[in-house]
Amino acid sequence: MDPVGLVTCGDMAKKRYTPRQTWGFLKLLIPRIAPYKGALAVAGVLLLMATGIGLAFPLVVRELLDSAFLAGDSRLLNLIALGLLSLFAIQAFINFGQSYLTASTSERVVAALRQDLFKALVYQPPGFFDTRRVGELTSRISSDTGLVQGVLRFGIPELIRQGVFLVGALFLVTITHPQLTLATLVAIPFTAIVGWLLGRRVRRLSTSIQDRLAEAVARAEQVFTQIQIVQAFTREEWEERRFRGDVEDVRDEGLRRAVARAGLTGAVTFSAFGAIVLVLWVGGRLVLEGALTAGDLVAFLLYAVTIAGAVISLAGFWGNLQEAAGAAERIFDLIQHPVSLRAPTSPVSLERPVRGEVTYRGVSFRYGAEHPLVLENIDVEIGRGERVALVGSSGAGKSTLASLIPRFYDVEEGEVCLDGLDVRTLGLQELRSQIGIVPQEPMLFAGTIRENLAYGRPGATDPDIWEAARLAHAHEFITGFPDGYDQIVGERGITLSAGQRQRIAIARVMLKKPAVLILDEASSSLDAESEALVQDALDHLMAGRTTVVIAHRLSTVIRADEILVLDGGTIVDSGKHAELLNRSDVYHRLYSRQFDDAIASSKELTD
Ligand code: ADP
Repeated sequence: MDPVGLVTCGDMAKKRYTPRQTWGFLKLLIPRIAPYKGALAVAGVLLLMATGIGLAFPLVVRELLDSAFLAGDSRLLNLIALGLLSLFAIQAFINFGQSYLTASTSERVVAALRQDLFKALVYQPPGFFDTRRVGELTSRISSDTGLVQGVLRFGIPELIRQGVFLVGALFLVTITHPQLTLATLVAIPFTAIVGWLLGRRVRRLSTSIQDRLAEAVARAEQVFTQIQIVQAFTREEWEERRFRGDVEDVRDEGLRRAVARAGLTGAVTFSAFGAIVLVLWVGGRLVLEGALTAGDLVAFLLYAVTIAGAVISLAGFWGNLQEAAGAAERIFDLIQHPVSLRAPTSPVSLERPVRGEVTYRGVSFRYGAEHPLVLENIDVEIGRGERVALVGSSGAGKSTLASLIPRFYDVEEGEVCLDGLDVRTLGLQELRSQIGIVPQEPMLFAGTIRENLAYGRPGATDPDIWEAARLAHAHEFITGFPDGYDQIVGERGITLSAGQRQRIAIARVMLKKPAVLILDEASSSLDAESEALVQDALDHLMAGRTTVVIAHRLSTVIRADEILVLDGGTIVDSGKHAELLNRSDVYHRLYSRQFDDAIASSKELTD
């Protein structure tokens, strides 16, 4: 279903990294964490303190069992219980501090990552988005940064905690009870290996489930966005069946994961309890022989459980690190992606007032090295205030030609100039501030009508906005809404008709007062009244401005100062409508096709 050639990151999710690669990607995060080293150092100290208390606990229990019980000393028992309670209260405070410091740091790091990702993306030229799925990009901002956050917030503190537990408990039991340590060391590797193997399978299945689910959701999204097509072709049942199949795949993988997970729980529990039984048995014999006290044995058991827990969670840690490394790779791949359309370091300025003369000189263009030439050797001069209509069959290169003026793409050869200055030498902002675009199917941003109108001139005053709306014939219908200019449109707001959206888009450009206009006329026709209003709005907009219009209406070409006929990326003819109709076969063919009915009347008009 995906358009061919899109860069997808789906494969990356399954990548396995060597430890060196994993470190290589995680290392990228260090400069982002560095500013918080103070907070993290404090968190580290707190973490070590809390872990120390956890390690001391079995020793206190041993004291409790051996001294208090054996001596029958209830005062000592009370004292120990009280001491333990205070110890855990202190530990709770320490945990609170540590948890807050790591969580707040991870929130800050991830917020900055998200901001940087958006910043890196929003300045990329349109060509960057042509080859990528928007869903993939937004998931970089949401789920990948989430994975990084998970590792910073839980993963790394847990690694330190369990690492210290493991080393500390092993050290303590080895120096106190070497024989028992041996019994534990026999059982622990077994638990760890079972846990690691099954854990790996669970993780692999989880990745596969996520991929399949993402695929199914993407499919559902496509169906919903194209619901009219789906229903017009009555493909609901087929789509339903296909989605059912997708979901069943996810379910089957889920069932396989459930088996692996259940097996994992069973095996780990059995081996952990098996280890405890082994220790109890060996230790019990030592207690019976008088070589060990009951307190020793219990303390030892607690350490053994600590060690086993640490081994199990450390065994799963590698998978989490790899996931985070994958996320970091994808995030930094975007953040560090160079912007191919570089603004000049010392831009030249346009002379004021801007005249709006557009010149193409020997322009050739292709969409990337692997694509064929889309425009070839284009030479055009558009004078101040002139109206130029681009005509040609679909794919002839009309939109591409227009998109070179605001420098959405850079030419391969030749130059495109505004007021005689190569657009590549102008500041992008200055260049684009002089260009207004009315797209074929304008989309509005979710928000109020006022915000949509002022999008190109954020500081616009109400009277300015009203005037632009009046000239664009939008004022009438806007004031008809219950909230007028404050009416919310788009998501969770009212929906506007195609004609209304166009008039808003026209008013939006009107407010910006650009010197050059690029109009992409709607190819679908509006009803006659709407059409007349849009046309009148456009006339107001075009007055005194250089206009390049991708023409779909007969009235546009008839009134154009010059028509450029494009075919296969070259300008095959140019002139006024009447001349071209008599002279150019391509133009004649085009118009017989596009305006079958209207052509006769146009002849009458121009004869
Ligand atoms: P028109 O506006 O006349 O219909 P376009 O300028 O949209 O034509 O397209 C001209 C040619 O460039 C077509 O062959 C089209 O397939 C190709 N093209 C358009 N946009 C892209 C793109 N983003 N990436 C690659 N090729 C493109």
